[in-house]
Amino acid sequence: MKTGGCLCGAVRYEISLELTPVTFCHCSMCRRWHGHVGAWAAVDRPGIAVTEARGLRWYASSPKVKRGFCGECGSSLLWDEDGEEKMGVCVGTLDEPTGLRPKAHIYLGSRGDYYEVPEDGLLRRNELRT
Ligand SMILES: [Zn+2]
Ligand SMILES: [Zn+2]
Repeated sequence: MKTGGCLCGAVRYEISLELTPVTFCHCSMCRRWHGHVGAWAAVDRPGIAVTEARGLRWYASSPKVKRGFCGECGSSLLWDEDGEEKMGVCVGTLDEPTGLRPKAHIYLGSRGDYYEVPEDGLLRRNELRT
């Protein structure tokens, strides 16, 4: 069982199934929403339970995607996409040790112009998203 939550504690969750390895998303939407690159893992929906939802709010960032965040402290927390078996979790909100390892960089074609992504042995995908 893993646990996690927002900065202020108004959102807490438990993870009871295996999380995927971590994907770093460089798309412009993630950069705005996280303040920088998004770091994501995902878990089958039955494997996540929100144990404190007092602060939980959802923002529909596209027609099929809702992003969950804390309305009290602003932490970015969850990704809920229609038709997806898994829910995304912002791995920076997990309590440590996470036991996770990184896997890939995605949307590198939409990377910000203010940083580089050194060759680090991870998968690299160059999709564009504006
Ligand atoms: Zn909070
Ligand atoms: Zn993204």
